Amino acid sequence: MKQTDMNIFAQLESEVRSYCRSFPTVFTKAKGYKMWDESGKEYLDFFSGAGALNYGHNEDSMKEKLVNYIMSDGITHSLDMATQPKAEFLETFNEVILKPRNLEYKVMFPGPTGTNTVESALKLARKVTGRTDIISFTNGFHGMTIGSLSVTGNAFKRKGAGIPLQNVVTMPYDSFVNEGLDTLEYLERFLEDGGSGVDIPAAMILETVQGEGGINAASFEWLQRIEAICKRWGILLIVDDVQAGVGRTGTFFSFEKAGIKPDIVCMSKSIGGYGLPLAITLIRPDLDIWAPGEHNGTFRGNNHAFVTATAALEFWKDPEFEQNIQKRSELIYSFLESIVEKYPEVKGEVRGRGYMVGIGSEVEGLSEKIAAEAFNRGLIMETSGPKDEVFKLFPPLIIDDAGLEAGFEIIEASVKTALE
Ligand code: PMP
Repeated sequence: MKQTDMNIFAQLESEVRSYCRSFPTVFTKAKGYKMWDESGKEYLDFFSGAGALNYGHNEDSMKEKLVNYIMSDGITHSLDMATQPKAEFLETFNEVILKPRNLEYKVMFPGPTGTNTVESALKLARKVTGRTDIISFTNGFHGMTIGSLSVTGNAFKRKGAGIPLQNVVTMPYDSFVNEGLDTLEYLERFLEDGGSGVDIPAAMILETVQGEGGINAASFEWLQRIEAICKRWGILLIVDDVQAGVGRTGTFFSFEKAGIKPDIVCMSKSIGGYGLPLAITLIRPDLDIWAPGEHNGTFRGNNHAFVTATAALEFWKDPEFEQNIQKRSELIYSFLESIVEKYPEVKGEVRGRGYMVGIGSEVEGLSEKIAAEAFNRGLIMETSGPKDEVFKLFPPLIIDDAGLEAGFEIIEASVKTALE
């Protein structure tokens, strides 16, 4: 097979996307937790499309249903029209996901991607409350369009807008409570001060585990306190589960174990199951106040994505699926702890929850070096955090023990080489 000249990307592709530079090869094929490039080299995928491929690549049951649907001339694009795949998705999501968790939400299709669901949540929160301000958190990541970027705590990304982004108050993410400065208490003092004319915010938006911001996991206690503040002041709690949702942290929703019930939940990435674009916004039923057409969009409901999204929910009918994620999460976590212990020069800290974990290193550039080394050895992983100080392990949820073991070996060898 003719090999692609990598220069073509440097010459013709804009600099906006960087993955093809971090993973400098041309990929041709993928199955489960593996990918192959055009030279035939095999890679373990510990990246999972940044959380969009929780069920791995080309999962058989989804592929079969999708192929059958296409071969029967099923409708691909239908705007807002009612279709069978859409009805099946809504019904299955309600039966398999919401009801057993005692959750009641209306499902809205805000547009095809993560940023669309965040935009819809911010808009709706303002419309419902008639208030303007949104509280967001340091190192939070919510998307690249103006609204979602305005609540994203990343100076570099915000500069991409070229203008100041307004109506957002950024607060420290869970980290200061035990260090003598309780920021939530501080916030409550402001809210309680009726005399100074402090504006009550419309909503708070947060990730329970921050993905792009460096795999920072909020404690359940902190999340519960946030929920209580929101309830007390009529502030809507928006949980952005675009990356942490669909099983990534061990449960379908990332907030389940914290025992909180957000008013609005944003989901995308793995909700489509097969890597097809789909986003949903879950809305507390009484907040469903938009008139038809007040929020719309051309690609709000792709039927191929509905077919695979419904097929993906089959996994959740078997309680063993969730139990296995949680069991293997412990393996991943103890592997990372062993790395931190065995290699003190990494100056590392294990972060995260479930299959959303990594090591944050104090050594400048080390995590990127480890990821580059891993790539040479046939493992794909990403770095995250404000200084790319975290190398993150994001294998698909369907990975088996053999895949994990092989990945651990490569990672440990890469740590050793990076330290030399
Ligand atoms: N929210 C979170 C938590 C994300 O991680 C991302 C994407 N990394 C987004 C929103 C935006 O999603 P998209 O790139 O599909 O617009």
